[in-house]
Amino acid sequence: MNNIKEIMEYNEQFVENREYEKYITSRFPEKKMVIVTCMDTRLIELLPKALNLKNGDAKIIKNAGAIVTQPFGNIMRSILIAVYELGAEEVVVIGHHGCGMTGLNPDVVIQHMYEGGVTDETIRTLTNSGMHLERWLTGFDNVQDSVERSVGIIKNHPLLPVNTPIHGLIIDPETGKLDLIVDGYEAAAETK
Ligand SMILES: [Zn+2]
Repeated sequence: MNNIKEIMEYNEQFVENREYEKYITSRFPEKKMVIVTCMDTRLIELLPKALNLKNGDAKIIKNAGAIVTQPFGNIMRSILIAVYELGAEEVVVIGHHGCGMTGLNPDVVIQHMYEGGVTDETIRTLTNSGMHLERWLTGFDNVQDSVERSVGIIKNHPLLPVNTPIHGLIIDPETGKLDLIVDGYEAAAETK
């Protein structure tokens, strides 16, 4: 099976039949939101449907676990660009139950890297040069704690506009049910 070939063939028809027309919108999020969520396959269609989001409604940033770990990493930069350049006014972190990052064991991941052909020398070189591989590959024990931690990192970011609401939610990857963990409006009101 060749995924790319299949995609290219389908795509030709998609464009030819002008199927894109129903998705035409602007790059500015209509609901003025930027969402950070997980790359989980179950959320591809379910998450936007469960939140009633359509094309053009929100910026969606995805990674493994919906985790923001670095104040000056790639995810945080995307959030800042969404806010300052693309009109987002609030941030929503959406973790989910049954996430692959729950209880992720870095030793197991490193073992899989060995099996994938990465050499012991490479691992040692990286470790010796100060790369904390194990910490880098660690997931979280509890999705609620993780969402709260990510919300905290965003909330305390020195470059974010003061009083930007930062919300934290958890979605059920089967039913789409949302639980509100952090109400960003309340937190923003408290700091005013
Ligand atoms: Zn996940």
